[in-house]
Amino acid sequence: MEITCRGSRGALPVCGKEFLKYGGETTCVEVTPADGTRIILDAGSGIQHVHDDGARSSPQHWHLLFTHAHLDHLLGLIYFQPVFDPNAVIEIYGPPLQGQPFETVLSSLISPPFSPITLAEMNAEFIFHEVDRNRFRLGTADVLPIPLNHPGGGRGYAIISDNKKFVFLTDNELDFLHEGGASFPEYAAFCEDADLLFHDAEYTQPEYARRKGWGHSCTESVIRLAWEAKVKRLGLFHHGRLRTDAALDAILTRQEELIRAQKPPLRCSAVAAGHTTVLQDPPARATR
Ligand SMILES: [Zn+2]
Ligand SMILES: [Zn+2]
Repeated sequence: MEITCRGSRGALPVCGKEFLKYGGETTCVEVTPADGTRIILDAGSGIQHVHDDGARSSPQHWHLLFTHAHLDHLLGLIYFQPVFDPNAVIEIYGPPLQGQPFETVLSSLISPPFSPITLAEMNAEFIFHEVDRNRFRLGTADVLPIPLNHPGGGRGYAIISDNKKFVFLTDNELDFLHEGGASFPEYAAFCEDADLLFHDAEYTQPEYARRKGWGHSCTESVIRLAWEAKVKRLGLFHHGRLRTDAALDAILTRQEELIRAQKPPLRCSAVAAGHTTVLQDPPARATR
């Protein structure tokens, strides 16, 4: 299974030489199991960099999973090239929000005066699926949703395929219970033995003390979650719009002692746009 980040920024896209290492695009992650099923998590500005390689399926068939409907997670949708392809099928998965089906929420936003065109005017075929708490299957991948601890709610996802587990929990506050959210032990159980976890780590602990209840987590709590869940690799996600490359590197350096205290040591980095992680078993050793 391959996981490619197309955007790891929260709130607003940013640009400038101080953001080149981790990138400035907002949330979008491409997940490709070995069978080639095309799964995309969120449609932030990073989705403009997702392109059809033309080599896989015809017609193009995409599975677009949304965590929630805050603008940083869907502002790129109308710039996703396949929405204008009459041969594309785009299946959209999202949770009900504020008592409304995700289809209603998305359609009301992708319409004038907020957007020059509506979903119905786009050329691709859209198929909507409501995400509750039940697992569903996409190709060889099992997808498990969990409610997010975030204002207005949402869903996080675990994607299990090829004997590997990837968990995506962005816009999730570990130390505060929002309506409909889950507890720290529930998130730890959900992440258990994940090969890779991308988790919202927008704040440091002192920053979090001033923003409790805003729907995001601090690095220290995310590392503790990864420890308790025995996660193999952790990617800090949803970088604040003012968080420069140097600031992210400084946070990782400060946490190094905490990270290395785990046995075996937790592999931890800040998620960078454009970076691909390949989850696969090492080749079997030849026996004589
Ligand atoms: Zn966000
Ligand atoms: Zn949000």
